[in-house]
Amino acid sequence: MENYSTSREILTKLISFPSVSSDSNLPLVEWVESYLAGHGIASERVMSPCGTKAHLYAQTGPEIDGGVILSGHTDVVPVAGQAWTTDPWTLTERDGKLYGRGACDMKGFDALALLAMARASTRPLKRPLQLALSFDEEVGCAAVVDLVETMMGALPRAREVIVGEPTMMRVVTGHKGGLAYNVHVRGFEVHSSLLPYGVSAIMQAAKLIDWANQRNAENAARTPSELASPFDPAYTTLHVGRIEGGTAHNITAKDCRFLMEFRFVPGESPQDWARAIEAKAAELTAEMQKIHPDTGIDLNPGFALPALAPEKDGAAETLARRLTGDNGRHVVSYGTEGSQFQTRGYSTVVCGPGDIAQAHQPDEFLSLDQLATGEAFMDRLIDTLCA
Ligand SMILES: [Zn+2]
Repeated sequence: MENYSTSREILTKLISFPSVSSDSNLPLVEWVESYLAGHGIASERVMSPCGTKAHLYAQTGPEIDGGVILSGHTDVVPVAGQAWTTDPWTLTERDGKLYGRGACDMKGFDALALLAMARASTRPLKRPLQLALSFDEEVGCAAVVDLVETMMGALPRAREVIVGEPTMMRVVTGHKGGLAYNVHVRGFEVHSSLLPYGVSAIMQAAKLIDWANQRNAENAARTPSELASPFDPAYTTLHVGRIEGGTAHNITAKDCRFLMEFRFVPGESPQDWARAIEAKAAELTAEMQKIHPDTGIDLNPGFALPALAPEKDGAAETLARRLTGDNGRHVVSYGTEGSQFQTRGYSTVVCGPGDIAQAHQPDEFLSLDQLATGEAFMDRLIDTLCA
């Protein structure tokens, strides 16, 4: 195997795998396994139910509690339909920037984490360094739960988790959570002149959507909690992003379908909001069924991601602040796998190279400067683990 002694060489290799979320990541995982094995580090896979994807975890250092987990995802968003000026699967340098799909989100961090594992393996670590690489982050952050729970059973308990989503190496301590529903309102068709004998799926859907409007107004009017106040907006929002239904102006609609999304602040949970919408849907269903029994509202859950809550005196925050020198207060509006670690008891922050503004874009890039900053961070982390 070639040398891969720099983060850039590793990144070049990682970018060459077109590990779009919808496709297998196994070729990438296989390469990572052999890279780690080349440094004497054993790794384990956690297979997807379908067997075409795998998470990977590894540890170097002593078999004791109190280590650090470096967490990244291996999947990337598609490039189809995007106007790239370079080959997205070939890392290309131009004006101090490294272009390629995933350079910023987040194979740059993955490369740094792999290099850190290799470097750490030659050092007298007092605490272990652990690696967690997931699949399907870009399609809801749900799959990583398997990885987190497997690591909890298989490895000594780590004390800090650093999730390397792009933050320009700032220490991000919080993000909102998300919850989505595919809503199907089932009405009963009659001629619209007979309105009271029918059930318009559209008009019932409007009631549920207006319930969302009311929640937004209510949330906006409330004084933000301490956990919510750093966010903009500093409250939970509900949104309908797509709707379809009905056949003609003179038929009460048989069907209406829409997508509703919740972006909730730390301190609130997906379960809280799931209960709230279920209660409203049940109330409307009861009303509808008074007119016709074969009507109602079906809520089909999409993704559900907990929020990442800023911790009081969190170990991960303390560590990351010491390593970066960043003492600012930062929260972000995108979700990460960090909340899946935090809700399972791990102290967690988000801190990684690159700017989220480049993520998912054509000509996605990571600056050489950010890569170097990230590498220096990892070297300080390894020193800390030896101390
Ligand atoms: Zn990402």
